[in-house]
Amino acid sequence: MSGRWVEVAGGGYARRYAELDQTIGLVVGAERCLVIDTGTDETHGAELATAVRELTPLPWTLVITHAHFDHYFGTAAFLPAPVWAHERCAAALRADAEADRRTWMARYVEQGTPELAERLGTARLVLPTELFSDLVELDLGGRTVTLLHPGLGHTDHDVVVHVPDAAVVFAGDLVEQGAPPSIGPDTVLDHWPSTLDTMLALEPRIVVPGHGAPVTPEFVRAQRDELSERAAHNA
Ligand SMILES: [Zn+2]
Repeated sequence: MSGRWVEVAGGGYARRYAELDQTIGLVVGAERCLVIDTGTDETHGAELATAVRELTPLPWTLVITHAHFDHYFGTAAFLPAPVWAHERCAAALRADAEADRRTWMARYVEQGTPELAERLGTARLVLPTELFSDLVELDLGGRTVTLLHPGLGHTDHDVVVHVPDAAVVFAGDLVEQGAPPSIGPDTVLDHWPSTLDTMLALEPRIVVPGHGAPVTPEFVRAQRDELSERAAHNA
């Protein structure tokens, strides 16, 4: 498990992993840094924590974009730390984390990577310590970032991170590059396009997806149109 950093804009980074084509975010302020998602298991989390330390010695705050296993099972590697999430994320974790773990362990065994199944099997579930419903501002020292829930979409509790001074939004799985947006049983498809409009109203120059490479607002608009078509087809 090893990733590589891509600098997105001043003090904003994306760490790219081959596994699941996953992308994790980092925003560095003058006093604190914010780590956006924590990876698939504690080994992944530890690799990520070490990689963050290559860029900054500052204390970290964590945000979990949503309750899908690859976004939170690395959290224990960062403790102690404040862990932010949407208020419905905590409930989703309590309800679904163990089933999510079993599903993916079985999938890893099937695809011939039992070591990933084993690591997922031993990862501790860490619940968020700080919850919000619509929006919260975090002062990282010299720069403020906003965590916000732009609406229903990939799940009912997706959080995006807006870094206004860099015109960057970390979108979690509301945006996906390199593969179609992931529609699951917890997706609210008919709301997803307008949720992306709310996100685009922040006027980012760069949007960092939860999987794939950073994209432009034009890319997000095309994905929104694709989701609108899917929603109309399903209606
Ligand atoms: Zn997801």
